[in-house]
Amino acid sequence: MNNHVTVLEIDGNAILHNLNYFKQKLRPETKILAVVKAFGYGSDGVKVASLLQDKVDYFAVAYAHEGIALREANIKTPILVLHPQIQNFDQIVKYKLEPSIYNFKTLTAFLMYADNQLLLNYPIHLKFNTGLNRLGLYHSDIPLILNNIVASKHVRIESILSHLAASEDESEREFTMGQLNNFAAIVKQIYLHLDYEPMIHTLNTSGVINYPEAQFDMVRIGIGLYGFGNDEKETSHLKNSHVLKSIISQIHTIEPGETVGYNRAFAAKKSTKTATIPIGHADGISRKLGNGNGYITINNQKAPIVGNVCMDMIMVDISTIDCKEGDAVYIFKTQEDILHMADKSDTISYEILTAISQRVKKLLKC
Ligand SMILES: *Cc1c(COP(=O)(O)O)cnc(C)c1O
Repeated sequence: MNNHVTVLEIDGNAILHNLNYFKQKLRPETKILAVVKAFGYGSDGVKVASLLQDKVDYFAVAYAHEGIALREANIKTPILVLHPQIQNFDQIVKYKLEPSIYNFKTLTAFLMYADNQLLLNYPIHLKFNTGLNRLGLYHSDIPLILNNIVASKHVRIESILSHLAASEDESEREFTMGQLNNFAAIVKQIYLHLDYEPMIHTLNTSGVINYPEAQFDMVRIGIGLYGFGNDEKETSHLKNSHVLKSIISQIHTIEPGETVGYNRAFAAKKSTKTATIPIGHADGISRKLGNGNGYITINNQKAPIVGNVCMDMIMVDISTIDCKEGDAVYIFKTQEDILHMADKSDTISYEILTAISQRVKKLLKC
């Protein structure tokens, strides 16, 4: 039982609002895949999936064990595993997870497995590399791929997918259009050789925003569900789902000449009141936020972090804030808080969210 006082509240209404925002951007028949990998972007994948299971068509996770957690929570929705490993095929099939096949080795291994297990029409997804150069089969592999698959009654191509490298970046529009054209050519060639038409999908959140004409049969939305678009305007239409709260453990008065925290990084020039908060770099608060770079919010006022971020604690300056030991604080509450934290940690919103560690208790609020 996790009774940790530092809690991530997952705002279920915000997630539903964001889902509806993207739905109204899309054609009514376009399917939605909700990406709940990495514990639902640092929240709780099972809780998010439970909330969305009747409202989306698919879930995606990165690894098989993430999909198993959803099945064990009785989620029945189809689940795409983006990065399956050959040694997990047993579990993938046992839990009815659907592998995204990204190379020849995985394809032949899965076909062999399906053959051995006498699976019938097991849904697989073919992932093509169109320029991200991360995971994916190649256009030139198509004849060989189809030779293997078409002859097999053990598997069925449920979908064909690719992933954009720079969908958020307008200055890369030409490159992205090249990826989309390449993908269209791949799909066309595969359709020519099949007597059925697998679903096709390639857009992530910023793809939906910038290239809605390429929505095809389904889109894969991750960060957008949690409140972030690819610019200020889009983000303003969304609601933040991750609210990180804690309490004040102790208050100190630091006299001039005294110091706070490891390496004595903060030295008081004047009498300073500090509050110690039970969250640290082991919970996902970057050390880059120390020494005044980051803030938390107490009583609607910003309290800058003083000194270095410790593993389990931070100290913040509350000299001008009316508060007492035991009071609630927000590590972040708004998109602005998270974007500020990302900026000061030299990263992006995704990493701030996914860095929230497993030690932090997660609560879904609806
Ligand atoms: C993580 C991921 C997504 C979701 O991307 P967002 O930018 O968070 O919407 C979509 N597709 C693939 C293949 C991914 O790995």
